[in-house]
Amino acid sequence: MNVERALQTLRRINAFSSTKRGITRLVYTDVYAEALYDFEKLLIQENLSVRRDPVGNLIARREGADPRLPAVACGSHLDTVVEGGAYDGTLGVAACLEVIRTMNERGLVTRHPLELIVFAAEESSRFGVATIGSKAMAGLLDGKRLANVRDRDGVSLAEALRRMGLDIGQIHLARRRRSELKAFFELHVEQGPVLESRGKTIGIVQAIAAPTRYVIRIDGKAAHSGTTPMAYRKDALAGAAEVILAVERAARRYEGKGAVATVGACRVQPGVMNVVPGSVELMVDIRGTARPAKAALARALEAALARLQVDRGLRAEVNVLSDEDPVQLDRELAALIEAICRKRGISAMPMVSGAGHDAMNMARLCPTALIFIPSQGGLSHHPDERSSPEDIAAGLAVLYDAIVNLAEVIPRQPGRGETA
Ligand SMILES: [Zn+2]
Repeated sequence: MNVERALQTLRRINAFSSTKRGITRLVYTDVYAEALYDFEKLLIQENLSVRRDPVGNLIARREGADPRLPAVACGSHLDTVVEGGAYDGTLGVAACLEVIRTMNERGLVTRHPLELIVFAAEESSRFGVATIGSKAMAGLLDGKRLANVRDRDGVSLAEALRRMGLDIGQIHLARRRRSELKAFFELHVEQGPVLESRGKTIGIVQAIAAPTRYVIRIDGKAAHSGTTPMAYRKDALAGAAEVILAVERAARRYEGKGAVATVGACRVQPGVMNVVPGSVELMVDIRGTARPAKAALARALEAALARLQVDRGLRAEVNVLSDEDPVQLDRELAALIEAICRKRGISAMPMVSGAGHDAMNMARLCPTALIFIPSQGGLSHHPDERSSPEDIAAGLAVLYDAIVNLAEVIPRQPGRGETA
């Protein structure tokens, strides 16, 4: 395994960014398409057969000795948030290529085919919906919900797909059968401070917290801020403030029980100083690995909204953007990774992922493992996101061993002029 070469791949991909500060590669944009096209060239150089599925996932295949066997897959994503980091997703993709390059150099033949998958639209930063590509592959896509989804510039998902030469009416065809895949591996940066603070190199993810996301519209009545007596007001922002604090109080009560909640965005209409706020849009994110705790936080949110109606005469409309269940990852693969780390003398620990990943959707399709390496300072979705070359080397080694193990290397037959 060649860490420097993997980092070269990383830098080559990250040359495609629409901002100078950090990395910005929003899915289905021109710069994203260019990065994908450029990466495809590297895959073809490694003699992989490459295809794009109907949702824009890039799938590269290294044939196995028995092509009918299910493939051992690995992958991650190349789309980013606005002014994001160089490692989130991109590292996992670059690592998969490095694994395949190394196998090619060593002339390894495996019984099972290998697949490298670059998932489309992992980040929710463009359309407000995360992991669209892997959801489509796992048959988890809600087509009706996606029909009305637009980005900040008003471009619909359908239009963005069309510009990529894709048809939103066909994306359900990206779904794959369980029998096609033997296992899926994703190497990813932790995006949190746990590994670094515990002094461990590898995080073996046991479960992924799933987000439930709401857009909540609270309607009151816009009115003159000078002439409207307090008793006559229907102030949507004051009501929203109560909801925000109620969500925070509930999440604090559930601290340590496996769920957290955040109101991360608030848009006020008309949003001027001398008008009583007429309507407010809140974006709420509830996530956790414990279903009961998540459900309790959702109930606390509903209760707070119901109180608005009673106490303030405000109307609340709840729109569920996404609602996903926490996902348990494969125990056997986790045990395999633990054994690999022990054998290589790499420190490792079990952990849960607070962030969603493509692995959580792939886990519905086949046994899945998610491998974390430390994020320096726990920083992610930030231009200063970084992981050390030493930690990346460890991640590469573990990923390589795991894939080679599952794909079942065929011992080379001693040929003429060659000794065993
Ligand atoms: Zn990611």
